[in-house]
Amino acid sequence: MSLTAEIKTLSDPGDMAGYLQGVRGEAGKSPVVFLPETTAQVAECLRYCAQENLPYVPQSGNTGLVGASVPDDSGTTAVLSLSRLRETFDLDLANRSLRVSAGFRLSEVNDRLAEHGLCFPIDLGSDPMIGGMVATNTGGGRFLRYGDVRRNVLGLTVALEGGEVLELGSPVRKDNTGPDWKQIHIGTSGWFGTVTEAILNLEPVVTEQATAIVVPASDDAMLTLLRHLETRVGPLLSAFEFMSRAAMVHTFAHASALKNPFPRGEIPATALLIELSRPTRAPWDTPLDEVLEAVLAEAWHLTEAPIADALFGRPEEIWSLRHALSEGVKSAGPLIAFDLGFTRDKVIAFRTEMTQRLAKDFPMIEVCDFGHLGDGGLHFNLVKTDGPIAPGFERILRDYVVRYVVDDYDGSFSAEHGIGPKNLRYYEAHSTMPSRLLELQLDLFRRKNGA
Ligand SMILES: Cc1cc2nc3c(=O)[nH]c(=O)nc-3n(C[C@H](O)[C@H](O)[C@H](O)COP(=O)(O)OP(=O)(O)OC[C@H]3O[C@@H](n4cnc5c(N)ncnc54)[C@H](O)[C@@H]3O)c2cc1C
Repeated sequence: MSLTAEIKTLSDPGDMAGYLQGVRGEAGKSPVVFLPETTAQVAECLRYCAQENLPYVPQSGNTGLVGASVPDDSGTTAVLSLSRLRETFDLDLANRSLRVSAGFRLSEVNDRLAEHGLCFPIDLGSDPMIGGMVATNTGGGRFLRYGDVRRNVLGLTVALEGGEVLELGSPVRKDNTGPDWKQIHIGTSGWFGTVTEAILNLEPVVTEQATAIVVPASDDAMLTLLRHLETRVGPLLSAFEFMSRAAMVHTFAHASALKNPFPRGEIPATALLIELSRPTRAPWDTPLDEVLEAVLAEAWHLTEAPIADALFGRPEEIWSLRHALSEGVKSAGPLIAFDLGFTRDKVIAFRTEMTQRLAKDFPMIEVCDFGHLGDGGLHFNLVKTDGPIAPGFERILRDYVVRYVVDDYDGSFSAEHGIGPKNLRYYEAHSTMPSRLLELQLDLFRRKNGA
């Protein structure tokens, strides 16, 4: 079988280079990159791969952090890039939904929706494509308000291995006519098929925001403050993010244009980014800046007094620090990054115990963590301060940390980045799936990644 001439492919190593390099330094090899432009062309590529017995890896924005969007270095796995899949952009204003091709970037979707006062409400520091967001079930900084991609997908078009195309779900929000099959494709890294279109729930654009960086009085105070805010302002609370001193220090050193908001530039042990927001302010509403100041002032007087300091500022300025943290930490040195999830009460307990243990057992490691405390997500980043990371060392350290995450804290070793070569062995070790289903999934993973 051969592909129709309309489907663009690349096979020159120079042309393919950008498709073979992942964000965290992973680099693979491939015989070919497919660049289909329609769902029908994706299906044709998949039929071709099935007939030629050619493993393939779907790739969207290639911003994924578990090494799953690039092929391995065997040179036998094709790249199925969805970056040119842009045939559909159908906005349904009345239904507040959008049917969109998988190859649109999040920023572009939101730019186009802005004139209608709508957005796809997932917010993060990278600019992924819709297909990759579905495959990884992206979370992000406003999970607390809007949830993850799963909560905002109404329907999917999926091309299965072998080329069959399925329409799963629909723009109808209330529909209980059987199993919700689209869910199997959300957050499963393309194991069960390639997403070519999604029907997305849209939300009104936020026009009023109030943000503050808050220095908590103690570790325990953070949860007290979170509960206080949820009780007092309910759905107005849209972000409750945590940043450690080490992560902020490296970020200010890396991004010299970034404004250090702390008095005399003295960076505290931990800081919280708190945001209240809403689409519009009615004439009878109190401005959100005042609401935020008032609820934080109340918190000062709680018995447990959770706040040591609060700094108010323009939302763009405050978020620019939070969004710069990933790159800032990356610049600090060789990095082993964990994307962990816990019940909210265990996040701080985990990082406290783990930081102490690492200082004793791995003194060359600096913990530079930050995360989405409001939803129990922790980006537990470990920087090696004494030189490059040998593969054996990385494995020992990963095993060490994951064991505590899963066994002692009942946490997740993949909160929002999905499963890929970087963490597959923990999926095998800790999955609670019946073994028959686990084997099926591992088989799909190996086929997808050519392993
Ligand atoms: C600076 C930075 C900050 C980030 N912050 C966050 C964050 O706050 N929250 C968060 O959740 N993530 C975050 N990420 C991770 C990443 O951006 C997300 O996982 C993103 O959703 C991946 O989308 P992508 O389009 O880049 O997909 P890719 O990286 O191209 O692919 C990711 C996975 O999906 C599969 N895939 C891709 N497209 C398809 C498709 N059409 N059909 C089926 N499978 C497919 C790939 O094979 C791979 O397994 C961050 C990354 C960076 C670099």
